[in-house]
Amino acid sequence: MGAHQTFPRGAVRIHGLSKSFTLNGAALPVLRDMNLYIRPGESLAVVGPSGCGKTTLLRVLAGLEAPDGGQVRIDGRPVQGVGTERAVIFQEPRLLPWLTVLGNVAFGFEVRGVPKAEAEAQARQNIRLVGLGEFEDAFPAQLSGGMAQRVGIARALAVQPEILLLDEPLGALDAMTRITMQDELARIWREQQVTMILVTHDLEEAIFLADRVLVMPREKGTPPRLIDIDLPRPRDRSEARFV
Ligand code: ADP
Repeated sequence: MGAHQTFPRGAVRIHGLSKSFTLNGAALPVLRDMNLYIRPGESLAVVGPSGCGKTTLLRVLAGLEAPDGGQVRIDGRPVQGVGTERAVIFQEPRLLPWLTVLGNVAFGFEVRGVPKAEAEAQARQNIRLVGLGEFEDAFPAQLSGGMAQRVGIARALAVQPEILLLDEPLGALDAMTRITMQDELARIWREQQVTMILVTHDLEEAIFLADRVLVMPREKGTPPRLIDIDLPRPRDRSEARFV
């Protein structure tokens, strides 16, 4: 590899990744020699039966879980631990209940060392981006589940991540809100030009949001399969349904 080679932002290379947990004294292999290249700006959905290792993969990518073997490289650099080029969104947005919407999102900027006044100005922009301009002064307890998740997304975007890692982000929402939020995620992904890795149990959601779907098997010996979603964007929801 030449010294002058440049890597596009947000490229993820997973090489020989393995991860086991210990269960009743025995090793439980969850990821086995996994290899995958995720293109910069790609939207990848990860699906598979419960317990197949989707969350474990996401947590390893987030740096919240150390792999036993193999490597993850982002833009060519090996990653260890958490880093501000990645932001994680969980099913529950985990907002700070004593802070307003503005305070919660500004907090995302302040942890990056942005001074308070500047943090608030930037937070306002992010809050508008997720369509909550009118709710800056509301407290988390006053928000619906979908609104709270939007605040979580606005806060996650504060680090200006190259990679958004989402673990069932819409799983706790009702069906109608989920559809609205899928549209929001599609728009945010497009506007922010981030690489998106989305764990979901909802196949329709995967097809609607992703360029490729990684299907993880239940049997650990079987390698995961990658499926290209060959549909134009912006997506037509009815087409996504009938693939
Ligand atoms: P999925 O997200 O696909 O439902 P997970 O990645 O959460 O699957 O879990 C994969 C397997 O690893 C499961 O069998 C789960 O019980 C096990 N597991 C996950 N986290 C831990 C942990 N911290 N300690 C022990 N076992 C774990």
